[in-house]
Amino acid sequence: MTNINPIGVAVPVFIGLICFEWFVSRRKKRPFYRINDAVSDLACGMGDQMIGLVVAGITFGLYTWVYSQWGLLEMSSSSVWTWVLGIVGVDLCYYGYHRFSHRVNFGWASHVVHHQSEEYNLAVALRQPWFAQFSGWLVYIPLAVLGLPPEVYGLSYAINLLYQFWIHTRFIGKMGPFEWVMNTPSHHRVHHGTNPQYIDKNYGGIFIIWDRMFGTFEEEKEEPLYGIMKPLRSWNPVTANVQPFVSLMNASFSMPRLADKFRVWIAEPGWTPDGVAAVPFPAPNRGYDSDASPGLHLYTMAHLLPVSAATGCVIAFVNVWPPVWLAVGAGYIFWTCMGWVGIFEGSAWTRWVEIPRLLCVGGAAATVAIESSNVQVQMIFALLTLFSVVSIPWFRNGYLSPGRQ
Ligand SMILES: [Zn+2]
Ligand SMILES: [Zn+2]
Repeated sequence: MTNINPIGVAVPVFIGLICFEWFVSRRKKRPFYRINDAVSDLACGMGDQMIGLVVAGITFGLYTWVYSQWGLLEMSSSSVWTWVLGIVGVDLCYYGYHRFSHRVNFGWASHVVHHQSEEYNLAVALRQPWFAQFSGWLVYIPLAVLGLPPEVYGLSYAINLLYQFWIHTRFIGKMGPFEWVMNTPSHHRVHHGTNPQYIDKNYGGIFIIWDRMFGTFEEEKEEPLYGIMKPLRSWNPVTANVQPFVSLMNASFSMPRLADKFRVWIAEPGWTPDGVAAVPFPAPNRGYDSDASPGLHLYTMAHLLPVSAATGCVIAFVNVWPPVWLAVGAGYIFWTCMGWVGIFEGSAWTRWVEIPRLLCVGGAAATVAIESSNVQVQMIFALLTLFSVVSIPWFRNGYLSPGRQ
């Protein structure tokens, strides 16, 4: 088995497809993208993957340990039936976890991140929560007890994740008989809709049969209204992931009875204790659109190239590179994402994040270019140095332009 993580290889392909869909939506004058929103999606996705560099290794180790201690059946990873069980079994567990994530406050506080965007496009597929991976692995443990080999589980899990990318699009309509068994863009648009009949429907990952079997299926009949009932109103991935837990904690503190302070964590979203009147949802305050000048749009998109290359490499080579390289890569990615937040939210602190970042990246890239004896490495890092230097006046001009909000 190769040491290259397939999700890392998929990163440049996904970013390429997102750029293509964005380009088509512009050409066809169909407003399916806002750059600020898409950049926030990517920042959430990159953060999730960086946390996963540590957490996924631990949780996969736990799966392997349970398998080696209690695995009941002998299954060969060279048998096609083991792979069928892997793909189907992982998808059934995913259905269960996804349903839990919508129906239990504690699960929703992390999963809500995936639903915060008010757009629906391929970038939303990468908008992944940071904290779900801490508990999500538990639902797959029955597969370890059954005896599903870890390598089959690992690849089936990756396939499940990768499959769900392409269904986040408004460009593909209904797909005929394919819709009967498989999860499709139409089915998943319903899942992201806030229309009353669409809420808590279509939890499937690869297959839609689980929803049809367990009574959570809904067909797309009217255009979905995307987003959540309590919009986030920020592009910051840290806020996106932490704020739902803060509001759940506040709800817990505000409960008058001790038992309810605990119960609210496992209650369904919107639950109120006996004797306490439910507060009706106010009309969602949609349409957050804090934005940057056109020059900074271009600036951000140009920087997407090196940062997505770094993200792909860090994920792909997680089992190959020394930890210090991974840490430097993750630090660069996170720092870049925080610069994006400041740029699109028009924050006063942005220059104190972005200019030091450009200086550090330029300095580090120049050092690598000088130290390396490989001509290709020298070329790549010399280009990155030049790009960082040129970016300083580019950022300053855009940041100080009157178009900035
Ligand atoms: Zn969901
Ligand atoms: Zn989705």
